[in-house]
Amino acid sequence: MRRLGNVFASLLLTVTATFVGALAMPEKALADGCYTWGRQLSEGTSGEDVRQLQIRISGYPGYGGVLAVDGQFGAGTKAAVVRFQQAYGLADDGIAGPNTFAKIYALQDDDCTPVNFSYAELNDCNSTWAGGNVSAATAKANALLSMWKLQAMRHALGDQQIRVTSGFRSVACNNAAGGASSSRHLYGDAVDLGAGPHTLCRLAQQARNHGFPGILGPGYPDHNDHTHVDRRSSRFWSAPNCGVSSSLVESIDPVEGTGP
Ligand SMILES: [Zn+2]
Repeated sequence: MRRLGNVFASLLLTVTATFVGALAMPEKALADGCYTWGRQLSEGTSGEDVRQLQIRISGYPGYGGVLAVDGQFGAGTKAAVVRFQQAYGLADDGIAGPNTFAKIYALQDDDCTPVNFSYAELNDCNSTWAGGNVSAATAKANALLSMWKLQAMRHALGDQQIRVTSGFRSVACNNAAGGASSSRHLYGDAVDLGAGPHTLCRLAQQARNHGFPGILGPGYPDHNDHTHVDRRSSRFWSAPNCGVSSSLVESIDPVEGTGP
């Protein structure tokens, strides 16, 4: 009896392993110059592959949200995957599988930046990313995250250009620009945006949907000629001429501006 049971258990294990293996295999082994995911990711998974996914979908946290980039696929990550899938007309099951990864591959360059933004664009201060308030590697990683948020914002605004006028600054560059000593530009995650296809107000309003706890724009001192976004630790939104304010976070229709 016992022996038979063991044989059965072992057979069951083999069948189960084969089944799980088949599920885990991507439909097609897509190679990508930046990063290639090797398994489907859903709620409850964790690891570096989840963290890489979170970076790419960090622009989809919902209004006023900020997605944690912690390698843990929880409810927030699932909701962000759903929003990403909806933004690109994919089946919105909240599971990152072949179709979701294929869209991400199409959106990223070989250096892992999103197709419409570049490291050079986010740093006109130096080429090393050194001399700020964090290590060069951290500054660059922070800038990468901001670029993915901007890519989501760009898509939401009809895939028209978003013009970057300033990004990372070393202490020397920040002093030369007259920036505050606590400026998020010293951390690499701040980006200044200029008017173009979109007004400065439109940019400030839309940024509320894409994971920027810091938004400064028209009406805030020294921000009448650009809209500034960043990833500070707690929310501070101020673009008084655009109806953008930290205290108005309950008004959840950010689609059109109320200000001039
Ligand atoms: Zn700025």
